[in-house]
Amino acid sequence: MGVEYQHIALVRGRYRPSAERIARFAQALAEAGWIASPKTLREKKVPSSRLPKAASRPGAMFRGPAQTWEPAPFAPTAQWLRSKKPSLELAWPMVNVLELGWRFPVEPLPFYREGLYYELGIHWSQYYRDVVSDEADGPEFGGHCGCGADLALPRKNILEPTFYRTACLHCGEDPATFESGQTLHRFALVIDCGKNLPEDTGKPASLHPQLRALRNSLFSAKFTQVGVIC
Ligand SMILES: [Zn+2]
Repeated sequence: MGVEYQHIALVRGRYRPSAERIARFAQALAEAGWIASPKTLREKKVPSSRLPKAASRPGAMFRGPAQTWEPAPFAPTAQWLRSKKPSLELAWPMVNVLELGWRFPVEPLPFYREGLYYELGIHWSQYYRDVVSDEADGPEFGGHCGCGADLALPRKNILEPTFYRTACLHCGEDPATFESGQTLHRFALVIDCGKNLPEDTGKPASLHPQLRALRNSLFSAKFTQVGVIC
């Protein structure tokens, strides 16, 4: 009841790929079948009613200023990506994954495998975001610098995630270097699995090796995987 799973592969600290690199990543994801273009969705006869409304035509969606999902170009250009500064949440939904011959991006597979769906997304931001997880090990980032200064940026909308400065205005410290700043990031690959929780095999879930290889071929950074149950 209400239990959902997100698998996040983030790069701790200031790393943030260029808009051009993200655009190439989207193309590579489509070529490898991790996301589906409007053409593929038509060919595979995916009923648009199964997809989130915002993505049902273009195949992609992004979180708009009102924090609701809005249609996004399936293959975003670098120019479009840059127009979404200072932060972007972009996602491509996939439904009936195994029935349609696709692969599920997280291992192990959920126990119940009929009608699997996921949303593959990216978080790309000028400022830091944190991962809020009940299961996190170690100290939690409280939003303050060691010198006491508040690092959180004011929010325009109550639904907006909190963003943090990458350097303290008072002492210049980078909060991602704090022990409590382990999951502060400007770039993350986010697989929203919804209610499709990976089967509990006693081992932590991980990205599908082929998706991991594709990711590593485009981004030369060290990724940390975090599973979030919410
Ligand atoms: Zn400080």
